Amino acid sequence: MKKYLPQLATLVATLVATLVATLVSTLFPGCTRPPEFKEFPKIDAHVHLETSEDSFVEVLEENNLKMISLVTRSVSQPEIDEEFEFARALHEKHPGTIAFATTFTMDGFGEPGWEEKTINWLQKSFDQGAIALKLWKDIGMTFRDTDSSFIMIDDPRFDPILDFVEEQGLTFVNHNGEPRNCWLPLDKMTVKGDSNYFANHPEYHMYLHPDYPSYEELNAARDRMLAKHPGLHYVGCHLGSLEWNVDELAKTLDRFPNMSVDMAARIVHFKIQDREKVRSFFIKYQDRLLYGTDMGFHGDYSKSSSAGRAREILGMIWLSDWAYFTTDRILTQDDKVKEYQGLDLPEAVLKKIYYENALRMYPGLDWNLK
Ligand SMILES: [Zn+2]
Repeated sequence: MKKYLPQLATLVATLVATLVATLVSTLFPGCTRPPEFKEFPKIDAHVHLETSEDSFVEVLEENNLKMISLVTRSVSQPEIDEEFEFARALHEKHPGTIAFATTFTMDGFGEPGWEEKTINWLQKSFDQGAIALKLWKDIGMTFRDTDSSFIMIDDPRFDPILDFVEEQGLTFVNHNGEPRNCWLPLDKMTVKGDSNYFANHPEYHMYLHPDYPSYEELNAARDRMLAKHPGLHYVGCHLGSLEWNVDELAKTLDRFPNMSVDMAARIVHFKIQDREKVRSFFIKYQDRLLYGTDMGFHGDYSKSSSAGRAREILGMIWLSDWAYFTTDRILTQDDKVKEYQGLDLPEAVLKKIYYENALRMYPGLDWNLK
């Protein structure tokens, strides 16, 4: 009996500690210690890496952070080639930290041979390591058909391409439309990020372009496309352009079980909605949300400026988002809504939004994260 005493003492101590921790977290939900940022595996599922200087990767590795870089915009093939090469080379050098998505050109769309040429390009992209097809808002808002109508994402000419992505078991990641603020005058927009962006990009400010597709028409085209492709892994960028209301986003997620959304550049829209409602939304839709920021590295950096920019983003974005999701603290920001309270999400939910959902929605990722 005597020799079992130490084990018994350890067992009792563990039981007491667990009991106390459970009691504390039940009575004072905000008092549990959040997981350590550096130790917790994280994927930023929406970034744009257009640089060959890679010292920022050291900062990612120090912080247990991986990235999915999205090659975006259906510009000319030579421009896409250039962007693609940045992402491909970074992935080749850092396969454990950087993954990437490809895109295609709309040059020749509607002409004979476009479909075959596009599928061949995608095959080549996937062979070189791309794990997804990314399409940008220029489909729906820039390209016009021969009759001058806008080419929307549910256009049947995209169907064989999306079928191909599905057959490959890969993912379609799609920035469709814009935040609802885009259809409002600048002074009615709910967040500074939007009013600043659209003040600088009047060409994309739809309030000024009533002849362009409406907010509702763009979302409806996306929904018709989703109805045609129920087996496709679909990630809607920027909360599927339903950032302004978690109830609306919930309805769309309910309709399309194959759809998830990334939060890139839209987390601020959660902060200006009712905190309890947003928290319940995160709990209910914990399998459908992917963390992402839309951060970018563009052009030439010196070694120190590349790592320096990563540290700057770390302080301004990654750690600040972490505080929002993991604590119940009152936090501040320089926006129209200045104060907001952290969501204090359970650790199981944090795991899902920070990496488990990305691993499921991007089956092309071969990262082993626990
Ligand atoms: Zn983006």
